[in-house]
Amino acid sequence: MRPSHRITHLTDDAAGGWGIHFRARALKEAGARIADLTIGEHDVRTHPDILDAMHRAARGGHTGYSAIQGTDSLRRAVAQRITARTGVPAGPENVLITPGGQAALFAAHHAVGEAGDRALFCDPYYATYPGTIRGAGLVPVAVPTRAEDAFQPRANEIDARAEGAVSLLLNTPNNPTGVVYPEATLARVAEVCRARDLWLISDEVYDTQVWEGGHLSPRALPGMAERTLAIGSMSKSHAMTGSRIGWLVGPEEAIGPLTNLATHTTYGVGGFVQDAAEYALGRGSAFEAEIAAPFRRRRAIAMRLVEGQNIVRAIPSSGAMYVMLDVRATGLSGETFAERLLDDEAIAVMPGESFGTAAAGHLRVALTIEDRAFEDAMRRLLAFAGALAKETV
Ligand code: PMP
Repeated sequence: MRPSHRITHLTDDAAGGWGIHFRARALKEAGARIADLTIGEHDVRTHPDILDAMHRAARGGHTGYSAIQGTDSLRRAVAQRITARTGVPAGPENVLITPGGQAALFAAHHAVGEAGDRALFCDPYYATYPGTIRGAGLVPVAVPTRAEDAFQPRANEIDARAEGAVSLLLNTPNNPTGVVYPEATLARVAEVCRARDLWLISDEVYDTQVWEGGHLSPRALPGMAERTLAIGSMSKSHAMTGSRIGWLVGPEEAIGPLTNLATHTTYGVGGFVQDAAEYALGRGSAFEAEIAAPFRRRRAIAMRLVEGQNIVRAIPSSGAMYVMLDVRATGLSGETFAERLLDDEAIAVMPGESFGTAAAGHLRVALTIEDRAFEDAMRRLLAFAGALAKETV
């Protein structure tokens, strides 16, 4: 028997661009010491207080099937959070609880179009995007962005691809670039969405990791709440990646049928995980800032070191747990640079090419190891780039 084209062609290659990450992991398992800056995972585990809340909920009996759309109290807590952050009122009827942001992205793309419709997303992109879109039966169409624009989308590039498209997927703060889109960019993009009658799928899973200014959800822009499906997650904000809990916020007309989709796919999220999430959200923004603090510090370390040399350029970024470095001055592709950095310096970073074509010649560095080890890895990475650049002149 042969598995379907749909599942065998979700991605172009089985590793989905994660080749370096898998190689680093294999080396570590074989006992090598690798500075692993590949994956967006905290170097601390879920806070013990959250685990206690989870344990209490489970021992209290919340271990059966839970409400598929999410518990009323968690949906209320998410609605309050979204209302406070956007200024646009949301109620529990606007919220679907999902097993992580990834499931919300998958559900959102089911909500916006019919089989064969075009779904837009910006390049560079979080590696799962095209596969998620294909999995929902839509056709992924990349909107290129440019290093010289700090990889922010241009409205005319979106407009040029909008014919036959049903949605645009936007991610700010952005993975892989760390760039946070300012209001002016979002306003121009929103205008195209309204003019072209596109849904805006807004991936906001890094909304608590903003180092300068604040996070602006496109849901807050005029006329956008009715066409925006906003995606949130506890993975990054609360170091709960393994608990698989997130949400989708949108118009009630979409949330109803999406709950039906959940009935036929995930069947909801464990009640004890939902209770733990509710507890964690209740701890407020100071707690979230504490969880984000290491990334803020390491981003400052990275920027300071980059300023001290002139081969590697940092993309001006102000959010998420990554910095993106332009290594084109070394003459190597991001892929070759990353392979050689792993071989010669035992440092693993993601090549920009893993995130599409727009970030070729760049590296994504995850801010996810302890400060001193991070600083040491950054110093060695920059020295390595400097030596390569000398070779090429
Ligand atoms: N969106 C982006 C941009 C991400 O980087 C990730 C995870 N790395 C996700 C969504 C999905 O996260 P989760 O399913 O853990 O919420």
